[in-house]
Amino acid sequence: MYLYENSKFMRKLLLSLFFFPLLLSCQNPKKKPTKKVKYLFEKTEIEWKAKLRKMAFYVLREAGTERAFSGKYDKFYEKGTYQCAACATPLYQSKYKYDSGSGWPSFDRGEDQNIEYDVDYKLGYARTELKCNKCGGHLGHLFNDGPRLTTGKRHCINSAALHFIPPNL
Ligand SMILES: [Zn+2]
Repeated sequence: MYLYENSKFMRKLLLSLFFFPLLLSCQNPKKKPTKKVKYLFEKTEIEWKAKLRKMAFYVLREAGTERAFSGKYDKFYEKGTYQCAACATPLYQSKYKYDSGSGWPSFDRGEDQNIEYDVDYKLGYARTELKCNKCGGHLGHLFNDGPRLTTGKRHCINSAALHFIPPNL
């Protein structure tokens, strides 16, 4: 009887020793902690909503996309700087803007020190999301079908996320 009890105990012990690491690994799924980036310009969503135009809020704060060929800077080629429509940080220069035919303002490079490169899976696969790194506003996406003679990159940006400033202003 004693032996029987003992072996039962041993079996339980062995089983629990075997499953213990599994239990641990289930409790610690290999999920990266959601990163919370701190931005220089932070507001509540209510404050952003009050500050931004409807389409700008939809793009910048809700990571929406304006309809192709609908944005005011799609076919706009004045010389100047494009700022973030939310926090006025310089993001793109007109000299790097080109007509990609995509229906969205396209640049072969941006003001990299002010741009955050993130990843989004909204379409079920990884895309490089471009954000203003001063306020966290969504700008658009980065693609590798840009001009081959320069960077080969296409910063595909929503007009509503931008505010154009002519030189000397
Ligand atoms: Zn910004």
